[in-house]
Amino acid sequence: MSEQLDNIRIVLVNTSHPGNIGAAARAMKNMGLSRLYLVQPKDYPSGVALGRAASALEILDNAVLCDNLQEAIGDCTLVIGTSARSRRIPWPVLEPDQCARKIVHEAQTQQVALVFGREDHGLSNEELQLCHFHVQIPANPDYSSLNLAAAVMVLCYEIYQQKLQLESSGAEEQEEWDKELASVDEVERYLEHLEELLIQIDFHDPDNPRQLMRRLRRLYKRVRLDKMEINILHGIVTESRRMLDKK
Ligand code: SAH
Repeated sequence: MSEQLDNIRIVLVNTSHPGNIGAAARAMKNMGLSRLYLVQPKDYPSGVALGRAASALEILDNAVLCDNLQEAIGDCTLVIGTSARSRRIPWPVLEPDQCARKIVHEAQTQQVALVFGREDHGLSNEELQLCHFHVQIPANPDYSSLNLAAAVMVLCYEIYQQKLQLESSGAEEQEEWDKELASVDEVERYLEHLEELLIQIDFHDPDNPRQLMRRLRRLYKRVRLDKMEINILHGIVTESRRMLDKK
């Protein structure tokens, strides 16, 4: 069962305060998680982070540093982004317990990421759109923004409760699917390919993109494409472009 939690990574994007990184590492270790990814932390490595991590130093030692979010989640097939508020283009939003259930089930076989944003302004719209789902911790509507490390604790706690439940029920509630799911990188590569076709047929104007690619990204994320489906879609785009080039 602990192998299952090993497929789960916690990603902190552009964190300002090293104390939050240390406190997040401690919360992770308390809740049986170990894989921390740091996307461009502002002040790291730091003695403050080490101090706040207490006995979770190995999580900081093994933390993976990345230049951008895509690099941190490219090989994942399920990515859930956290947000304290609703955004302009609504994305499927999960409750913390639903989020944890999905994560624990999918992590039985796949790489999964839970992504946290900046202390001052959270995750950008672009970063949120790389996610399959969003999760919001219900809180006081007059002040719903938790401290970053506190938010990490709440969601890691939920993950640990789901792990305990799965263990006690003994059920392996894996969803059956005949093909491996496509990773974030594979879906992004397909979207680039599709965008080229949409430009070629004048369906999409990159100078006036409106919400087209965002809506398509949301559609494909919602469907959770598998690798075979991605290959078919690539094939359709390639052949369409070839026919257009022949004209
Ligand atoms: N002002 C920012 C909040 C930043 S809080 C905003 O409006 O998005 C820093 C991070 O803590 C957030 O990016 C998110 O990862 C997490 N967080 C804080 N409160 C949360 C909540 N209620 N639900 C989910 N995540 C939350």
